[in-house]
Amino acid sequence: MDARTYDVDGFTEALVEHGLMVPTGIRGAWGRGPVFEDILRRFDDLVTRTAAPDRAQELMFPPILARAMIEKLGYMDNFPQLAGSVHSFMGTDKQALELSAKVHAGERWEDMLAPTDVMLTPAACYPVYPTFQGLLPEGGKLVTVMNWVFRHEPSDEPTRLQHFRMREYIRVGRPDEVVQWRDAWLQRGLALLEGLGLPVQSDVASDPFFGRAGRMMAAGQVEQKLKFEILCPVISREKPTAICSFNWHQDHFSSVFRIRSADGGTAHTACLGFGLERVTLALIKQHGYDPADWPQAVRSQLWQ
Ligand code: ATP
Ligand code: ZN
Ligand code: MG
Repeated sequence: MDARTYDVDGFTEALVEHGLMVPTGIRGAWGRGPVFEDILRRFDDLVTRTAAPDRAQELMFPPILARAMIEKLGYMDNFPQLAGSVHSFMGTDKQALELSAKVHAGERWEDMLAPTDVMLTPAACYPVYPTFQGLLPEGGKLVTVMNWVFRHEPSDEPTRLQHFRMREYIRVGRPDEVVQWRDAWLQRGLALLEGLGLPVQSDVASDPFFGRAGRMMAAGQVEQKLKFEILCPVISREKPTAICSFNWHQDHFSSVFRIRSADGGTAHTACLGFGLERVTLALIKQHGYDPADWPQAVRSQLWQ
C-alpha cells in the first residue's frame, strides 16, 4: 500500500506487515521493530546535533514522578483524565494468599492494591522544573531530556499512544529571553522538519484541559498564544498531527518552584517537545516503509 494514502487501518496494517510496529494487544501500546527504532534514534540524534551550539545540559530521569510533584504541578486539576498511577500490593501474608486466590479464580483483585508514592510521568519536562529552584545565573538555563511519558488516551490511531517518547528542551530565564528562545526554536523546528521533506506547518494550539472550566483555560491559552504546534499530515490530510509542541508557561512553574531570574525578577519557563514516535511515523508516511528507498537528501541527514 502507498504510504501516502490516509486510510488509518491500512497504515496501521502496513506498519505491522513491514515489521515497523509490533502489536501488544493493548490499544495505543506497540512494540517497535528495529527499523522503526533506528529511524527514531537517528532523528533524535539529528535534533541533538542541531541544538548542540546551545549547549543544553542533558539530564535523565526515570519515567515516574512523585505523587506530591503531580499535585504541585497541578496535573490533577488540569488533566486528571490523562494521569496514570502506580499501585502495588502492600498487605499481609493472609491478604497475599487472598490476592493470589482471586487472581487464579479469575476474580477482580485490583482493589487489593494501594497507591504508591509515584505516578507515571506525563510530560518529559516535569521533573526538570524543581531543579531550577532559587536564583538563576545570568542568562538563565537550558536543559534537555528524553524520556518515556504516559497518557491515558487509548486509541487505535498509531499516532495516539499511551506510552511514547519525547525529546524536550526546557528554557528558564527572563521573560524576554524565554519568548525569544521559543520564537527562534519554532523557526528552527520548522526548518529541521522541512529539511526532512515533511509538509509541516505551525499553528497556535491548546492543551486538553479537563471539563467546562478547562475549555476556558484552553481558550485563554490560544488567545495568549502560549502553545504552538508543528503539524504534519500522518493519518489524515484534513486533521494533521502535532509532531512538535512549544509551550510558554509564563510564571506558572517558576511561582510553584520559587524560581527567580538573575536580576531577582520573576522567571519564566518554556519548553519544546518533539514527539519521537510521531515524527518517525510522519517520515514513514511521507517517504515510505523502507528507509533504503528514502530520498538521498533525507537519508544523508539521518544516516551520516
Ligand atoms: P495532541 O493535541 O495530538 O493530543 P498534545 O497537545 O497533547 O498533542 P503535547 O502535550 O504538547 O501534545 O506533547 C508534546 C508532543 O508529544 C506532541 O507534539 C506530540 O508530538 C507528542 N504526543 C502527544 N500526545 C501523544 C500521543 N498520545 N501519542 C504519541 N505522541 C504524542
Ligand atoms: Zn514540556
Ligand atoms: Mg494531547
